[in-house]
This record gives sequence, structure tokens and C-alpha cells, in this order.
Amino acid sequence: MSFDRLYDLQAKARLANLSNSEPWVGILTAQGQWLLKNKPLERELNAIAKGQCQSDWVELIHDLSCSDQLASHGTSFCIPSPIPSNLQRRLWCQLLPFEKKENRGALVTITEQSSLVNKGDLTAWLSILEAIQDAAMLFDQSGVLLHGNTSALQLMGIPELTRQDNHHISQVFPELQLNNTENLPKWLSHNNERFGAGKRWREVTLLNAQGKPLLVMMTMLPLSIQGQHWVMGLLRDNAKQFLSQQKLLNYLYHDPLTGLANRALFQDRLAQGVIRARRRKRKVALLIINLARFKLINDTLGHTAGDELLKQVALRLKQTVRDEDTVARLGSDEFAIILEDTFDQHDADVVGRNVIAALGVSFKLQEKEVFISASIGISLLTSPADSHEVLLKQADIALYKAQQLGPNRYEFFSKDMKAASEYRIHLESCLHYALANQEMVLYYQPQIDIHFGCIVGFEALLRWKHPTEGVLLPGLFVPLLEETGLIIPVSEWLLETACIQHRTWISEGKVPPYTSIAVNLPTRLLMSGCLLSVLEKVLHISQLPPQLLELEITETMLMHDINFAIKELNQVKALGVSISIDDFGTGYSSLSYLRKLPIDTLKIDQMFVEDIPDDPDAASIARSIINLAHNLRLQVVAEGVENEKALGFLQAEGCDICQGYLFSPPLPAEQLLESYEQLTETAYMESTLAPQSVTH
Ligand code: C2E
Ligand code: CA
Ligand code: CA
Repeated sequence: MSFDRLYDLQAKARLANLSNSEPWVGILTAQGQWLLKNKPLERELNAIAKGQCQSDWVELIHDLSCSDQLASHGTSFCIPSPIPSNLQRRLWCQLLPFEKKENRGALVTITEQSSLVNKGDLTAWLSILEAIQDAAMLFDQSGVLLHGNTSALQLMGIPELTRQDNHHISQVFPELQLNNTENLPKWLSHNNERFGAGKRWREVTLLNAQGKPLLVMMTMLPLSIQGQHWVMGLLRDNAKQFLSQQKLLNYLYHDPLTGLANRALFQDRLAQGVIRARRRKRKVALLIINLARFKLINDTLGHTAGDELLKQVALRLKQTVRDEDTVARLGSDEFAIILEDTFDQHDADVVGRNVIAALGVSFKLQEKEVFISASIGISLLTSPADSHEVLLKQADIALYKAQQLGPNRYEFFSKDMKAASEYRIHLESCLHYALANQEMVLYYQPQIDIHFGCIVGFEALLRWKHPTEGVLLPGLFVPLLEETGLIIPVSEWLLETACIQHRTWISEGKVPPYTSIAVNLPTRLLMSGCLLSVLEKVLHISQLPPQLLELEITETMLMHDINFAIKELNQVKALGVSISIDDFGTGYSSLSYLRKLPIDTLKIDQMFVEDIPDDPDAASIARSIINLAHNLRLQVVAEGVENEKALGFLQAEGCDICQGYLFSPPLPAEQLLESYEQLTETAYMESTLAPQSVTH
């Protein structure tokens, strides 16, 4: 039945009819507003507002009216709470899903059982039975059908129930296997698990008056009317539709792989959670969890293993929270947890810590032990004015921050993060025009052969001359370029610019013809499948000899798909272009892949260089990298060389090339040329005069 129709045609008429009788009827939206209410209901609600009656039931109905179970098939139940407190009254409620335009909620019918008993008012009962959407049958305690509403009689295939009719429940529902002498209310109390109190619906076969079997959904409720113990059966004839609708809803709202709530259900639950929290003056916490290294595992162990990992992650997440908390899968490796009824940050803090710990334990996939890590962003509903969208945005911002700080961290959203994120969004919007507006520029930093004391190459480093913010460093905007995909056009531009620039310098005799130019290659371009054609085009346009171009890649870049990377790099190498590994020692190094890669140079990360020779660990790492490189017949570059002590150590250890502020910071092209003579002199002086430290 269309709820629009129910609302328009029936509900209004019924509300009018019932306005002076005992049942309370109204329409409650999922936002907790009464769209319509009849007079008795209005009276009761007013009394509650004045504190004369208890309001527990309102709370319960509010919760149900926005729950997703209700959306599928409605519910009916008894409320045993005493209202008002001095009177022992029982309410019988039926909530039917209601949807009209933007409003979603429930058509609420509430009847006071005791008043019916007291007044012996069967007629009031019968009018309610007519008012409800289900087929309703009233059986006496021996199981004889006393009354059926219009829908029930239609199901039974009888125009009306006469005194002569003797339909026994055992004939109508043979599969219940009731015998004629059984006391029905007693039987029901023993079978409460199967049919109890209007909450459990079962599929049963109904034999109609013509003996035709019909599949229906049924629930049964015990009723006391006029001092008699009777039983009411509520039926829905669309069992198949009901079941397939359930399946459909399940499919629409759940992730088929993990069985967790999907994004649609998650958003609904979050929205409802926020509404409930506001009403109860509690908090909702939202955790967004992102797995690191999932793609790597998917790519290396295959999709079946990837799927298995996600299932195990889902299970562990569920085990870290209470049953009533929502765990959802939002994207391929993104999950969310909604914690309702929290009072402060503490609950979310505990869950954040538990999730990190749970995911930190190894997973067993295809007999292999696999480790992953996770980052979590947490937001809390603090202001009643905040919506669920705000909560989601804040958790995303906190997640971004957590990811920046490294693996296995959880971060709570804070106002500072908001400012940082707004700044990021501001930069991002300007970034789209930066290339066209010629705001991207290249700085060049010389690389010095520390044995001969001469400049042997330059590393091109990107800068953004922002019209209002000044010259911005790549740490601020390269991640944004990567996120937006703008990194590809920018990298093509910078490869071309660096190669043309270098070729011009050599042709004009400004720099020696043996100097090389190094460019940082982004992951996206390496993995795009078009790196080779870009390089061919750039080398063709610039006419730079390929052996003078060096591409810097990082270990982590390779890990996305090592086999593809090796294939691409072999082709790059075949063009004559050199390859170096940047930031060596900070990624997931594996000696086996080092052998397979067509590389020429290892660059020791500045993190090890800045502390040598005083920090013994840094010194021994730097020494090991130099030895490793030389054993593999690779050249070594140390970057971030800032002082003579470090240079002396590197010279003594046999490092080949150095780069750093000791010689020169990265400079714009014109400035580099202007001070070129000076730079050459510094290179020579520093290299030959540095005090060589004793290294053993
Ligand atoms: P990187 O490739 O490791 O670049 C070296 C960084 O160290 C540069 O920072 C450079 O300015 C800085 N540096 C050089 N000498 C010293 C020194 O003596 N002491 C210290 N403390 N730092 C020194 P920059 O230019 O800010 O670049 C940072 C990172 O941004 C680069 O690290 C690279 O990963 C990325 N990046 C820079 N330019 C590009 C580019 O054109 N494309 C891509 N994809 N990434 C780039
Ligand atoms: Ca670099
Ligand atoms: Ca580096």
C-alpha cells in the first residue's frame, strides 16, 4: 500500500473518527515531530509536557520511528510501563512505516489495554483492528475465530463472520499443529519464541475457507478483553514480497562482502544518531578508519586474499564495539564506527586505541602472516547545532591529520585542524589555475662530486609562487597535486621545463656538458602507463641527451605494484635515462628488489645525514648504505649535507656525491647562473678542505 494514500485517504478520516474515542493516533516523523495527532493523543502529550505523566514510551516510539527496522515492515508491541505513575496501565502500540515527500516516520496507533478491559469495550478494540494495516484475527482461548477485520476476512475468502461460522485456528493454520482442546493463550506463552508479543514474524501457510493455501507472515499477541484471555493474530499476505523486500533492503543497505552496513545505511544511522543524541543530551562519536597497505596486499597476494582480509578486519572491528554500535564499510579500505550514547571523549578514545591494537595483530591469509596498519579520524558531536554532515567532515579532517602523522594513529578533530583543512581547500582551489597562470617554477640545487670538488648535476625542485602566499614549498602542495590528479600535467610540465633548461645551459656553455639534471618522479606518473611516451616526447622536444636525465623514485612508490614498476623502469633505462632511489632507508627496503631494479644511484635520506657523525646509529646506517651501494656497483648521493663535519665523514666513508645547504640551497635558474662561479669555488673549497673524520 502506498503510504501517501494511507496518509491522504485513510489516516485523516480515521483521525477524525477516532478523535473522541480512546485510542491515540498520530503521525510521528523520524525527526521526532508529530505531524498529526488526534485529541486524546494531544491531551496525553500535553500532560507529559507538563510533567504529569511519564514520557518513557514517547522516547521509545521516537527511537523506533527513525529506526531502519521500522522502515521495512512496521512493528507492534506492548509497553509495560506505568503511565501516569500512579496507574498501572499497559499500552498496545502499532507503528507502521510512513513516508510522504520529505517526511519519513511512523503512523502510530496506541491503545490503553487496561481501559479496554475495564470498560469491557470490545467495540473500541474492533475499531482499532479496522484501523490497522495488517489483517487481524481475534481467537478465543479455545482457538475459535471470534473476529476478523476486513483485510483478514478477505484473506480467509469470506464476506463476513457469522455466529454459525466455526473457524478453528488449527484448521486455518494446520502447520501450527494445535489440537482442538489446547488452551490457546497457554500454547502461545510456550511458543513465545516463535510468535511472541508482536515482535517476531513467522512465515506460515493459511488455509482459506475454500481450502486454498496462502503463504503469510504472522505474529500473535495475548490479549485480555472483558476478563477473557484471547489471542490476536496479525497477518501479512505478501510473505514472498515481504521476504524479498527484506532481502532487497539487506542488499541495499549492507556491504555484500563483509555484511557490515554500507554507506547508505551508515549515513542514515549517523543522521538518526545525531537526532537522538540531541534529544537525550548525549554525544555521538564517529570514527573513520582507513587501512594502510591494503592495496599492496591486494596487488601482491591477489583479490581473494584482499577480500578475506577485509572480512577479518570487519570481524575485528565488530568485536571492539558493543552490539548496538554501528560498524560500516564506506569504501574499499575505509570503515566507520558510530558510537551512540557516549558522554565524553573517553569512550571514543578507548575504542580508537582498541581498534589500533586489534588491527595491529597479524592476519593469516593463504597461510601467510600479514600485517596492516590503520589511521583513524574521530569526531564528537559537541554542539547541538552540528549536523551529521559536519560530524563526517570533521572525522575526515582528523583522519587526514592522522594519516599525515604516520601509521597506527588516531586523532580527534580539533578547531586547528579545521583551519588547516580550510587552508588546504583554499590552496586546492588556487592550484587548478597555478599551472596556466605560470605560478609553478623550478629551483635547482647543485650536486657536488666530493672527491674532485666539482658540480656534477642539479636536482630540480618544484616551487609554487602563490600570488598572495609567497613562495610555497612542495611539502605543502605536492600532496594536493597528487590527490587532485594535477600531478600528472604538472610533472609533464616540469620534466619538459627542466630538460629544456638544462639543454640550453649546456648549449650556451653555462654549465659543463657532463652535468646531469635530476627530476622527482611522482608515483602516479610511474604507474600511469604513459611514462615512456612522456619521456620520449620530452627528450625529443628538449634534445637533451638521455644519459643526462635522472629520475628520482622512492621505495614506497615501487610497492604499489613492484612488477609493473620494474617493467616500466626497464623501458626507461633502455631509453638511456638514469634512475636513482630517493630517501633511501626510509621505505620498505628489500634487498631482493634492489637487485631486480635497473638503478644507478642510491640517495641517502637527509634524516640519516643530519645527525652524522655524532649520532652513532645514523653514522652506521649511512656507512651501511654507502657500502651496500658500492657492493651493488651503484653511485651514492648524500642529501641534506649542512656542515663540514658531515661532509668529512661522508668523504672518509667513500660517498660519491653530496647535496645540501653547505654548498647551496635550491635556487631559481637565473640566480643559479649568476652565482655559478661562486658555487663552483665553494664546491671545490669545501670538498678539499673538509676535515676528514676518523670513522672507526
Ligand atoms: P626530496 O626529493 O628529498 O628533496 C630534497 C629536499 O631537501 C628539498 O626540499 C630540498 O630543498 C631540501 N634540502 C636540500 N638541501 C638541504 C639541506 O641541506 N638541509 C635541509 N634540511 N634540507 C635540504 P623541498 O624542495 O622542500 O622538497 C621536498 C620534497 O618535495 C622533495 O624531497 C620531494 O619529495 C618533493 N618534491 C620537490 N620537488 C618535486 C617535484 O618536482 N616533483 C615531485 N613529485 N616532488 C617534488
Ligand atoms: Ca629528490
Ligand atoms: Ca630525498
